[in-house]
Amino acid sequence: MSSLRTEICVVGAGYAGLSTALHAAKRGYDVAIIEATRPGAGASGRNGGQVLPGFAADPAAMIAEFGETRARALWQISLRGLDKVRALAGNACDIRDHVAVVAATKADLPRLARQAALRRDVFGDDATAILDADAFKRALPGLAGHGALIDKRAFSIDPVKYVAALVGQAKSAGAALYERRPAIGISRENGKWHVATAKGDVIADRVVLAANVDLPGLEAGTERLLAPVRTFMLETAPLAKFPAWATGAAYDTSKALRYMRRTADGRLQFGAGGWPGRGNPPLAETWLRRALHKALPDLARAKIARAWSGLVDVTTDGMPRFADREGLIHLVGFCGHGVALTTLAGQIVADAIEGEDADFRRFAGLPQTPTWPTSFGQAAQLILGRAAPV
Ligand SMILES: Cc1cc2nc3c(=O)[nH]c(=O)nc-3n(C[C@H](O)[C@H](O)[C@H](O)COP(=O)(O)OP(=O)(O)OC[C@H]3O[C@@H](n4cnc5c(N)ncnc54)[C@H](O)[C@@H]3O)c2cc1C
Repeated sequence: MSSLRTEICVVGAGYAGLSTALHAAKRGYDVAIIEATRPGAGASGRNGGQVLPGFAADPAAMIAEFGETRARALWQISLRGLDKVRALAGNACDIRDHVAVVAATKADLPRLARQAALRRDVFGDDATAILDADAFKRALPGLAGHGALIDKRAFSIDPVKYVAALVGQAKSAGAALYERRPAIGISRENGKWHVATAKGDVIADRVVLAANVDLPGLEAGTERLLAPVRTFMLETAPLAKFPAWATGAAYDTSKALRYMRRTADGRLQFGAGGWPGRGNPPLAETWLRRALHKALPDLARAKIARAWSGLVDVTTDGMPRFADREGLIHLVGFCGHGVALTTLAGQIVADAIEGEDADFRRFAGLPQTPTWPTSFGQAAQLILGRAAPV
């Protein structure tokens, strides 16, 4: 590729970049996506597949920080993300309805009930049900816990199939995808953005940085908005008999942030943990197995087929941040809660480029406190926000 001219250059082919490309191409823009390796190589091809309403910030914290009106508006916007994922995933991504939020301690159940009440009374979102300990055991056999909030709006998908669905739709809409083309620099010349790659520059009117925590030298200052946190997953071999769960996926309120999903071929995908920084800690797999034992004691000896980890982009308040500086657009801070939000972000960016920027400005205008996790516990807490009972 020598130098290439386009209207919009999207850096990164995860959900955020692919959705931006899809929605911008549908609006008639000329779009080129440049991806360092392959689509879904980042968090989008590695996640737990839980498509959740809201944000990593829990409802009470949102209300305390933004006030009821603004918090409700943000929550309502987030619900559109779920509809969008359902529509784009279609029948191709193994959708399973409902996600359980499991109370890891007895005290967490009344807190989850208060969270459900806040969602209903303040946010107008009544798609939850509370299960006491007995009902929980019947609905989610084999899972350790003291009850659960069933989120009837949430669902789970196969995250890798969803990447493929977005790639197909972005290409069909006319976006060009360049794989193995890492952006290595960005500059502004004569009113255009130049994104440098080893194979030539992409020259664009606008650049959308959708590279999660990886913004290597692209824009000084962006990294100050977020901290990388690593989280870990494993997948079992197909289980002879998968427990008869009432939901396709669950996560719990423990500090270890345990989350799990049933795959279409009867495997368990299980994840946990938040390790500050990009490093890969020693003994992560042993630790993950212990977490599995705690969450699903009967499956503690299940054969593990594979294990992996991925990075999430964490902000101090669990809210994403968007920014647009002369057409250099950033999408960051999805905090381990990004399947629905990154998808929606793509549409919000395409709308903003077209001049319909009210939603974009809501996220661009959020305040940011510059304090970062310095310990495992703090990091887990930050991405645990989605599970934190009020
Ligand atoms: C293990 C794990 C479990 C998770 N579980 C859930 C869950 O259950 N539910 C949920 O809602 N969220 C979950 N998340 C978070 C969710 O996956 C992310 O918020 C979302 O996928 C982020 O999408 P993205 O497009 O912003 O980033 P990514 O998917 O990380 O995409 C960024 C892309 O940019 C590319 N890139 C990087 N640098 C460059 C460069 N210089 N040039 C070109 N390309 C570049 C990368 O290769 C990558 O493909 C989880 C995350 C992880 C890691």
